[in-house]
Amino acid sequence: MNALEQELTAHFGDRVGRGRTLADLTSFQIGGPADLFVTVETAEELARALAAAARNRAPAMCLGAGTNLLISDRGVRGLVVKLGESFNYCRIEQTGVEAGAAMAFGALVETTVDRGLAGLEFGEGIPGSVGGGLVMNAGAFGGEMARVVTAVHGVTGCGEIRVLSRDEVGFAYRRTNLPAGFVITRVDFELEWGDRDALRGRVAELRAKRAARQPRGLPNAGSIFKNPPGAFAGRLLESAGLKGARLGGAAFSGQHANFIVNLGGARADEVRALIEMARNRVRENSGVWLEPEVRFVGEW
Ligand SMILES: Cc1cc2nc3c(=O)[nH]c(=O)nc-3n(C[C@H](O)[C@H](O)[C@H](O)COP(=O)(O)OP(=O)(O)OC[C@H]3O[C@@H](n4cnc5c(N)ncnc54)[C@H](O)[C@@H]3O)c2cc1C
Repeated sequence: MNALEQELTAHFGDRVGRGRTLADLTSFQIGGPADLFVTVETAEELARALAAAARNRAPAMCLGAGTNLLISDRGVRGLVVKLGESFNYCRIEQTGVEAGAAMAFGALVETTVDRGLAGLEFGEGIPGSVGGGLVMNAGAFGGEMARVVTAVHGVTGCGEIRVLSRDEVGFAYRRTNLPAGFVITRVDFELEWGDRDALRGRVAELRAKRAARQPRGLPNAGSIFKNPPGAFAGRLLESAGLKGARLGGAAFSGQHANFIVNLGGARADEVRALIEMARNRVRENSGVWLEPEVRFVGEW
């Protein structure tokens, strides 16, 4: 047992996992083990776990719902933290919404729409947690997190509990500039009153659009590449002949070229090699160097 494991076990007991495989915690169903894994239930527990990792010079990361990740087959060194059920909540007062970072983003969309609150409808069908959605500045159909967030609560990589203003989050297209190692525990939003039936109609419309476009039934991590300025990654991939391209257990979807699906038993190395092959081919075909939206995690 190393020093970090000892320190964590002293506090969290058998909640500390050693060598826990992460594949089942991702939508891709891919990924090797975490050296150490712990689920925390309070901001103080999170602070304790992160401070212990920092003291022991071990890397630490937070796993959300795992819907935007490609985790290496070799797994993740150091500590992987997951937020427990006590971070799955929301409180609404007038147009102000406070959501725990482990709440499913889709559930938050549904709850706010049911209250007649406008601003989060774009999130219909975006899987993942509120915390992961914040980190990725998740968005679709012209909307994104950045427009409705007022504050972000969490813990720094050294274990200090902090509240960040909207400006300190540093929102950009499908990314943020949070302080290194910052783990989000809660996100505050300011929404607007809207017409409940109109909002429900809009959500149903977006659901139908998504159903028509996205592959279903096979594990994936959503869009593999970000859309480059003024273009669509899916179209560039399709015109480079990549729809359906396959490597081992991984393939570009025949339905939407910007999705890679796990056909069964795909390895992270195969997915990554397919991504690099596609980037090169798109550059040769159209001169555009695509930037991955999916995050590569762990030891490669
Ligand atoms: C079918 C499908 C459709 C999708 N459609 C969309 C779409 O339309 N638009 C869109 O933007 N995305 C889309 N995605 C991608 C993904 O759902 C979003 O990026 C989502 O917001 C990620 O949330 P998560 O909880 O799964 O984060 P994870 O994938 O677990 O993590 C993403 C990143 O956030 C970090 N993170 C997660 N939680 C925390 C936290 N509490 N504190 C600090 N860091 C944290 C992780 O370390 C990682 O770096 C789609 C994915 C799938 C599978």
